[in-house]
Amino acid sequence: MVKITVAGTGYVGLVSGTCLADFGNHVICVDTDAKKVDGLNKGVIPIYEQGLDEIVERNIAAGRLQFTTEFAATVKYSDVVFVAVGTPPAEDGGADMRYVERVIRDIGRCMERYTVIVDKSTVPVGSGRQVKAWLREELDKRNEKIPFDIVSNPEFMREGTAVYDFLHPDRVVIGAESDEARKIMKTVYRPLYLNEIPCIETGLESAEMIKYASNAFLAVKIAFINEIANLCEKTGSDVRDVAAGIGCDKRIGKQFLQCGPGYGGSCFPKDTQAIALTGRRYGAPLSIVEAVIASNERHKLKMIEKIEAGIGDEGVRGKTLAILGLAFKNNTNDMRESPAVTICEGLAKRGAFLRVYDPSAMEEAAWRLSSIKNSVYFAHDEYDAANNSHALVLLTEWHSFGNLNLQKISELLSQPFFFDLRNMYKHEEIEAAGFKYFCIGRGTDA
Ligand code: NAD
Repeated sequence: MVKITVAGTGYVGLVSGTCLADFGNHVICVDTDAKKVDGLNKGVIPIYEQGLDEIVERNIAAGRLQFTTEFAATVKYSDVVFVAVGTPPAEDGGADMRYVERVIRDIGRCMERYTVIVDKSTVPVGSGRQVKAWLREELDKRNEKIPFDIVSNPEFMREGTAVYDFLHPDRVVIGAESDEARKIMKTVYRPLYLNEIPCIETGLESAEMIKYASNAFLAVKIAFINEIANLCEKTGSDVRDVAAGIGCDKRIGKQFLQCGPGYGGSCFPKDTQAIALTGRRYGAPLSIVEAVIASNERHKLKMIEKIEAGIGDEGVRGKTLAILGLAFKNNTNDMRESPAVTICEGLAKRGAFLRVYDPSAMEEAAWRLSSIKNSVYFAHDEYDAANNSHALVLLTEWHSFGNLNLQKISELLSQPFFFDLRNMYKHEEIEAAGFKYFCIGRGTDA
């Protein structure tokens, strides 16, 4: 049984720590947020992830999983410390490393024996070396020569399916510099090795690059299909058929070819910015990634114009719009960089009043939409949002939004505009219910 500390109990730390405990390791999750830790100790899971509560409960009961704010005692006890704190965007577009630095320096102040420090946070290429320097600096201050290893073990889980993704990854990436560290990591991930999940063993820099290059590539796919969707609208093509046609090509693949209101979330926007900055810093600009970032920003604004144009000459000024979906995608309450925020703010700025609803993100929406709070009503459900609104705007692909009572919605709306920015409905069914239907990339509202 490997003794593990996980620093940070956000999406990645909580899911990783819980699943590593389920693998048979002994895991203590540490967070500086005492309220969160207190809640977790009482069984309150702060994020919405399918199956997570059950695995947390099972592993607490088995004595393999604990939550605490006591960092030093936990680190002293551990063989491995996973760093899973946030790396939000810094002002220059790079990754803000202050939370990582704090954890590393704290480790350096208290570690007492050989420890493997695993970087699970998404950090720019070169961070492993920087982490080593911070740690050495702290040990030097103590006049200590305690050995340690740094490992880069980037995480690829998707919010909404994070538990499944952690337990069934496409690959595990281990960037390490010593056989000892690689051996310990193999024990930590033993059940995945036994299941023959591909393990990519690299040096530190390659592992760090794999994470950014993966996210950048996925962002390219999304931005690409969104631009193709715009062209489909002009040419009378249907982007769903086009995506199916190109996705069947194994060299391209079907995933990440669903068009929508633009990519968002805690990873793609910040990671594309960060790798683009790395490219500029190293004199190897990533012009494709730079173009994707600009394309995604334009696409979100285009959605506002689409709604404005669809409603007609008067536009959205003075209109009430029902907004369905605020999270950046379904099955999560996360609104970080959600296109819904840009779109809601843009619509409010143009004089619209918004009746917003999301099955999971209402608490987060209360502060994420605070800059437009005088233009927002927080609805109880889809139908409350639609009540007396001039138009319905569907922004997140929650399954429940794909099964609306169209009759009821049409009775509640004062005007029959239906903007489906996730392409969840068919023209025929929406128009049969009496709506004027607008979707993305389907050549009908060119
Ligand atoms: P998050 O913001 O949800 O959680 C970070 C947690 O770290 C918070 O609970 C915070 O209180 C805690 N924290 C901050 N400083 C701390 C300290 N000194 N000691 C202990 N805890 C501390 O972040 P997240 O979404 O889990 O992301 C973590 C990292 O993983 C980021 O680098 C992110 O890019 C990367 N990542 C995220 C995802 C995802 O889907 N969210 C997927 C893959 C990788």
